[in-house]
Amino acid sequence: MSGVRETGPQDWAVRAAAEIMDRCDRLAGISDMESGIERTYLSPRMADAYELAGGWMREAGLDVHVDPAGNLVGRVEGSRPGLPALVLGSHLDTVPDAGRYDGILGVVTSIHVVSHLIDSSITARLPFAIEVVAFGDEEGARFGATLLGSSGFAGCWNPGWMDLRDRDGVSMRQAFHDFGLDPDRVEDAARTRDQVMGYLELHIEQGPILEQRDRALSSVSSIAAAARYMIEVRGESRHIATPYDLREDALTAAAQMIVAVDSISRVAGTRANVGEIAAEPGGVNVIAGKTVFSLDVRAGTNAQRDAVFDRIWEAFDDICTQRSVTVTKRRIHQADAVRCDDFLRGCIDSGIEGAERKPAFGLISFPGHDGMAVAHALPIAMLYVRCANGISHSPLESVRQDDVAYGADAFARAVVAVADRLGAVGDLAHAATGLSADPLGTSA
Ligand SMILES: [Zn+2]
Repeated sequence: MSGVRETGPQDWAVRAAAEIMDRCDRLAGISDMESGIERTYLSPRMADAYELAGGWMREAGLDVHVDPAGNLVGRVEGSRPGLPALVLGSHLDTVPDAGRYDGILGVVTSIHVVSHLIDSSITARLPFAIEVVAFGDEEGARFGATLLGSSGFAGCWNPGWMDLRDRDGVSMRQAFHDFGLDPDRVEDAARTRDQVMGYLELHIEQGPILEQRDRALSSVSSIAAAARYMIEVRGESRHIATPYDLREDALTAAAQMIVAVDSISRVAGTRANVGEIAAEPGGVNVIAGKTVFSLDVRAGTNAQRDAVFDRIWEAFDDICTQRSVTVTKRRIHQADAVRCDDFLRGCIDSGIEGAERKPAFGLISFPGHDGMAVAHALPIAMLYVRCANGISHSPLESVRQDDVAYGADAFARAVVAVADRLGAVGDLAHAATGLSADPLGTSA
């Protein structure tokens, strides 16, 4: 690649970063909110965003279409037509009152990276095609269910989703029609391993670690395992006059459980949150007979998640005995950890080291990402870009332009590293059949 500098990102990436920031601002202007950003799956505003981003893709030299699951796809061929594609992607949908970079930065940067590779005559030498995919739904803000676009792409679409309705009562089936798509064809969006060979995503960190370490970039080692429960504690409602040795206080017991969750999770290096709590009957002079609270736990591996829950349940049992209450646990969500593919992560790391001239390291991603769904079909890896104060899903979301330049530089280098390393082993058939024997990281 040309324009190599002694320090800092390459010239093309510095120039690209200015335009990437500008394009993120322009996409932020396409919103369903009066002031603030909101863009949801299959909405008219999403069609406007596709018009704009699809134009940038065409300008870069990509062939563009909207797939049957409502994702925007741009493709450039490699050294010959019809090769399996390395997919660069992220999402263009947002939560209500969102920031302008979560998902969007990955899509816009990918377009610039491919544009650079085309202009440098690199794509014509690659043993794979490149596709940029802008997923239409990651956040799940419109229909409740999340990762819709990437699930369609990865062939793990749930047919029951078509009957979900948005807050205006519009069914997803109707939304497909309104967007000009056939809901009965959604499963045709599923891509096979002879069409696509791997997935790379650039995304803001949504956490403070890169800032703390004074670094622009990292790779992701895994996307965290998660589980959510509703916990119901039952005791007995009685007057405040009840002596302590006769009380069965469900709220005090729940308070002790919540503190125990916090302590256990801190020691285990996992992340836990209790964000909702309700006590009954709710009288100032009445001991609570029932308390219900939510519990969300994220962990780097399934084994860590399961081990931390073992300790939490043990603590809950002890508290029940001490305070003469009972507890029931209802699981409402569970997602396994997705380990990033070693080969692709190595390519991301080499891109980071080339761009930043510093050793690369990996972070666990505690937020969920499109890669969780894509991993059902393909090996995945991710590149994290530092964001201010770890803030995301907020208008305060912010990234530095020089970090974006480093990110674009590293991402382009990662794509070239995939080609180099496949070429280095002299096994292009490997590219056609896949990169990893264990793309789901099930052995993790
Ligand atoms: Zn995101």
